[in-house]
Amino acid sequence: MAKLQPVRGTRDLIGDDSRAHLRVIECARAIAEGYGYGPIETPVFEFTDVFQRTLGETSDIVTKEMYTFVDKGGDSLTLRPEGTAGIVRAVMSGGLQNEMPLKWCYAGPMFRHERPQKGRLRQFHQIGVELIGVAEPVGDVEVIALAAATLEALGVLPATTLELNTLGDSDSRAAYREALVAYLEGFRDQLSDDSQQRLDRNPLRILDSKNKDDKAIVADAPSFGDYLTQDAQAFFDAVRGGLEDLGGAYQINPRLVRGLDYYCHTAFEFTTDQLGAQGTVLAGGRYDGLMEMMGGPPTPGVGWAAGIERLSMLTGPAPAGPRPISVIGIGEAGEKAALKVAQDLRQSGFVIELNYRGGLKRGLRRADKIGAAAAVFLGEDELARDGATVRNLDDGSQTDVSLAKLKDHLAEYR
Ligand code: ATP
Ligand code: MG
Repeated sequence: MAKLQPVRGTRDLIGDDSRAHLRVIECARAIAEGYGYGPIETPVFEFTDVFQRTLGETSDIVTKEMYTFVDKGGDSLTLRPEGTAGIVRAVMSGGLQNEMPLKWCYAGPMFRHERPQKGRLRQFHQIGVELIGVAEPVGDVEVIALAAATLEALGVLPATTLELNTLGDSDSRAAYREALVAYLEGFRDQLSDDSQQRLDRNPLRILDSKNKDDKAIVADAPSFGDYLTQDAQAFFDAVRGGLEDLGGAYQINPRLVRGLDYYCHTAFEFTTDQLGAQGTVLAGGRYDGLMEMMGGPPTPGVGWAAGIERLSMLTGPAPAGPRPISVIGIGEAGEKAALKVAQDLRQSGFVIELNYRGGLKRGLRRADKIGAAAAVFLGEDELARDGATVRNLDDGSQTDVSLAKLKDHLAEYR
């Protein structure tokens, strides 16, 4: 039989990889709690409609990337490609519209059928936050500050740049769209095939194209900033003012558009030049139109999501935990005693590795492999005197200790 492989674009998280992931999640959750954002978990699959209606029929996710299947009951379901739509669905199904503002932090796997490469997987993981029910620009400022605090706590903020843009309100977008299409029509034949289609269906997305020729054409396109309504301009100015009050640095990127249809006003990304082509680690924006698209009352919202894989590539391995102590039983009676001694030490908070079988030599080999600080031997001699032998594994020195004094003696290895 051929060697079993994981599905393309998925990966096993083992040992240090898993630890790096968990560290990102724990860190993000702790910072979010400090901002008053509590935990939320929604299912990994939803009715396909939840995403199809909200992400936009022409978005990359809906046209190319969704894992959609018909289940045994005949329902069309989709593995979530992102977190926001499911959370807004949860607000509606839970009848939480009267409990605004809602402030949440989530973490979990997302699924997109993309071409796998470094920093781009088919099952990847995100942490994210949502602030629902706040229409004021201070909401945008808060979630961006929360993003920066999270990156700071992970030690990666200095490696990133905050890029900021506004997508305006719907009047601004309509005016800009017209100007953009008029400009791009002059280059229709030179655009990539994808962008020629976007020109008819969703021209704004051409600004986000990764194609080299498209990028060159887009470089001279009209600027969104020139088409903002007064209201939209005032909103953007307030967000910028708030960020400046907090002392955070940012760059305006007029080409920054979000890939999803439900965004308006603020769009932002924290990018890095340390991950090659996959340079966006955290991305977010305002989505005031989303709940209405799902058939609910108009409800403002703003949030962001960050890729855990990309974050942990930046943070490197998580710091090692405390070194363990190996408890090694020798012979039948020794092994029996070792189980009890190990349990007692664990209950007192020591990090203990128990050898399951095989005596002294094997136990020491294992202790060496896991980087244990000390080994506790329990053999016939030790049992006869109600004691243990403790070996310091760094200098090899050995001490006979009574079981009654064992914890005191091991305190230095904690
Ligand atoms: P990209 O332009 O890289 O495709 P996106 O706009 O599709 O990103 P978002 O939907 O904004 O990404 O997701 C937020 C974050 O989630 C990204 O900035 C990235 O860190 C991470 N992310 C998105 N797609 C993937 C993926 N396929 N594999 C790993 N991480 C991903
Ligand atoms: Mg994408």
